[in-house]
Amino acid sequence: MGKAKRKQLKENASRKLITKAAFSRHISSLSVHSDEEIWECCSTVFPSMKDIHKHVALNHIDKVQQKAKLLQFSEPCKKIRAPNADLCLSNTNVTDFKCSCVNKGFQVLLFYHYVSITCCQEVCTWQKDLGSTLKLTGKIRIASEGINGTVEGCQCATNIYKNNILGHPLFIAMTTKDFKSSKGNGQSFDNLSVSVCPELCTIGIPCDSLKASNGGKYLSPEELHQTMENLQKVSSDKKDPLLLDCRNFYESKIGYFEGALKPDLRKFSYFPEYVDSNKNVFNGRKVIMYCTGGIRCERASAYLKQATNCEEVYQLKGGIHRYMEKYPTGYFKGKLFVFDNRYSIGGQDSSVVSNCQYCNKPHDSYQLCSTQHCRQLVLICEKCRNSGHTTCCLLCKKDAAKVSETKQCTCTRNRLRIPVEHDS
Ligand SMILES: [Zn+2]
Ligand SMILES: [Zn+2]
Ligand SMILES: [Zn+2]
Ligand SMILES: [Zn+2]
Ligand SMILES: [Zn+2]
Repeated sequence: MGKAKRKQLKENASRKLITKAAFSRHISSLSVHSDEEIWECCSTVFPSMKDIHKHVALNHIDKVQQKAKLLQFSEPCKKIRAPNADLCLSNTNVTDFKCSCVNKGFQVLLFYHYVSITCCQEVCTWQKDLGSTLKLTGKIRIASEGINGTVEGCQCATNIYKNNILGHPLFIAMTTKDFKSSKGNGQSFDNLSVSVCPELCTIGIPCDSLKASNGGKYLSPEELHQTMENLQKVSSDKKDPLLLDCRNFYESKIGYFEGALKPDLRKFSYFPEYVDSNKNVFNGRKVIMYCTGGIRCERASAYLKQATNCEEVYQLKGGIHRYMEKYPTGYFKGKLFVFDNRYSIGGQDSSVVSNCQYCNKPHDSYQLCSTQHCRQLVLICEKCRNSGHTTCCLLCKKDAAKVSETKQCTCTRNRLRIPVEHDS
């Protein structure tokens, strides 16, 4: 085959890919609801993927071609480094924003995407501009391995934000399904923080040495639900698969999947050491990992796979967030902890799985220890609070001055750094 011919073939292949991407982009822009498979076009509702594909192919191929042209134009951005990268990025900049919400109300978006990013600073600048123009608050992290964010804003602002990310060539593989939304209160975050970090979630291992692409097999909420249903029928103590909550102790305290192993960890970065110290718990087992939205499991499951002899490692796709949307009264009990001022969401299932640390009555809404430097999360009911219990422990109450950023209070000091699970 001649050089010219090969080049021609390569170009054809890439054009085909771009058209395909543009087609699916166009389809997802017609989606009525991000969680349901319903589309709308030409004032008609299409309840099946097949029908909307057919409709677009027959009537709107011009729009797809237009989109493909735009994508083709911005494609090189992936490889070009600064200073040219920001030229490509201006492609999707919003310069002027005026709220057009019909219903006032706030929305919190949660999303992540693993993709190799070489122009992190440019993406950071773009996100800062976009976020502040849209008056969003929240946290956005950018790393060479991808992007991770939680943002709050009015409905129209969060929608524009979502579409801008979806329209960016770097995030071509993302779809509306990669965004999880929940009701906000306008005060979930104090400000907007956008930063370039070594890792999207700090597990303490460089991106190159532990890759999300080596993570466990995905399990859909439906598949997990089915598995849980089957597990209920098993009577033996050692149930397989083993459910592993890879969140911190204070998260799994107020909500979890029944029967899950919930490590008593303070930080996600202790997870690898926890696995190393508890290999016997995992060896030979099938393990299903879960976390809030799925991001922590991506690399944590890769670690579990490489460090132990698990028979198989799975991860819950979309995390507890997606599971709860699908099964509000399913096998997840209690509330879902979130890292913002709301502390927790969900819980249509009215079960309260944690207790007030003073009177032991059911209680699951977190507050901060009242000691200035401690500020750790405490579960103290209204009644106990009113009778003067507002701290996590006695040291905080009696000798608040002794608790500083460097000196830990009694409850933190008494917690094992890396817990070892005992065979029951
Ligand atoms: Zn149409
Ligand atoms: Zn608005
Ligand atoms: Zn109490
Ligand atoms: Zn305290
Ligand atoms: Zn304490």
